[in-house]
Amino acid sequence: MYDVIVVGTRVAGSPLAMLLARKGYRVLAVDRATFPSDTPSTHYIHQAGLGFLKHWGLLDKVIASGTPPIRKLNFSYTDIVIKGFANPPAAGTMPEGIDAVYCPRRTVLDKILVDEAGAAGAEVIEGFAVRELIFEDDRVVGIRGAAGAGPEREFRAKLVVGADGANSTVAKAVGAEIYEGSPGACFIYYSYYSGLDWGMQHRTGFGEQQFASWPTNDELAMVAVMRKRDRFREFRADPDASLQEIVSQIDPEFGVNLKDSGERAEPFRPMLYPDNYRRQSYGPGWALVGDAGYHKDPFTGWGITDAFKYSQLLADRVDEGLSGAKPMDEALAEYQRDRDIQSASTLELTLSISELSLTPYYDSVFRATSLDADYTKNFFGLIAGTYPPEKYFGEQELAALYEKLDFPVEARHTTKDGVRA
Ligand SMILES: Cc1cc2nc3c(=O)[nH]c(=O)nc-3n(C[C@H](O)[C@H](O)[C@H](O)COP(=O)(O)OP(=O)(O)OC[C@H]3O[C@@H](n4cnc5c(N)ncnc54)[C@H](O)[C@@H]3O)c2cc1C
Repeated sequence: MYDVIVVGTRVAGSPLAMLLARKGYRVLAVDRATFPSDTPSTHYIHQAGLGFLKHWGLLDKVIASGTPPIRKLNFSYTDIVIKGFANPPAAGTMPEGIDAVYCPRRTVLDKILVDEAGAAGAEVIEGFAVRELIFEDDRVVGIRGAAGAGPEREFRAKLVVGADGANSTVAKAVGAEIYEGSPGACFIYYSYYSGLDWGMQHRTGFGEQQFASWPTNDELAMVAVMRKRDRFREFRADPDASLQEIVSQIDPEFGVNLKDSGERAEPFRPMLYPDNYRRQSYGPGWALVGDAGYHKDPFTGWGITDAFKYSQLLADRVDEGLSGAKPMDEALAEYQRDRDIQSASTLELTLSISELSLTPYYDSVFRATSLDADYTKNFFGLIAGTYPPEKYFGEQELAALYEKLDFPVEARHTTKDGVRA
């Protein structure tokens, strides 16, 4: 009998298994994948996420894998251009000492995480697919599944956690309901290129489309393009030409560079984005973490950072439940409540800007930001997860910014519902 079984061992499951094993609990972690292996992700990690890796003693391993540091970020939204980097986080705050962003391939990152879960004492079974949960009355008490064509096996635990992604088997088996959701807006095509020295680019414009790029392992650059879903069929008729068209339209200079020097090194990864949702994430004998419980459009690149953040939160609450400091149901209810409160501003921002066009409010805020060096620093702090959204989007702060810039009166939006300063 295990204390906890974790289904899925990538960026949500492995940290959870590792943290609970480090606390001395008996943990089983299973995944139908084997590692190293890839999964759809453009793998940008914000400083807030890197802070968790550092705190867990794993950031050095990511850096040692040859993942290049990025110290300048380039954002554009139509004609609004914001370039720079966040101020170093204040001493004592979570990502202390992190002066760069790293975007490790998932083949690299997930392997480091799953190995660390094992090193911490969790029992890890790779290549094991969970087919169903075991229930006693209404309580989940274990999992049933098999490795490949091997015999069916079952394992029992006090708690079963689904860290098994957007199509979570655990969520389906317990009937976890979606209580907040909206349809996915876009599709993505991405791959890896040699010959490009673009640094970090996050560029939206020339209609509802985006390209993004950042350097990663093996001296390759990840290049991704996004458009609204209704243009998927048109795009995939010739993905290389369509990607070239988007880059050239948004930034003609980069377009020339891509044509002359860029060489695609791997197949394209195409994907229609799944919907945005929050699912009920706990119940008798079960919990959900990572994309299994809460998923948002990858436009703002917060999936990995949030998976780290809420696996730490869940590990802390589960520890309270298992140690008897608090009834488990109460501890898990707190986990879901705190996750929803803490992730509200990221979710709201993501849903607001991932449609690839800006509302008048966001246009004003970002345009004014681009004109002011201090507010630009705050913007990059917001993106990094080190500057509070309530200050960056604060009505008084925005009113003061507009005043300082002598911003056009008709464009001085200080609230999302259209109030002007
Ligand atoms: C195209 C794309 C680009 C993205 N780009 C970024 C980005 O730049 N930055 C960022 O932070 N986030 C990004 N994200 C989001 C991020 O990748 C996810 O939020 C993150 O991978 C979620 O991690 P997870 O551990 O919850 O689930 P997953 O990474 O989906 O892992 C789930 C695991 O569960 C296993 N599993 C599933 N079912 C079973 C079963 N029945 N039995 C056993 N194992 C099972 C799977 O094999 C898998 O290994 C992107 C997502 C997409 C789709």
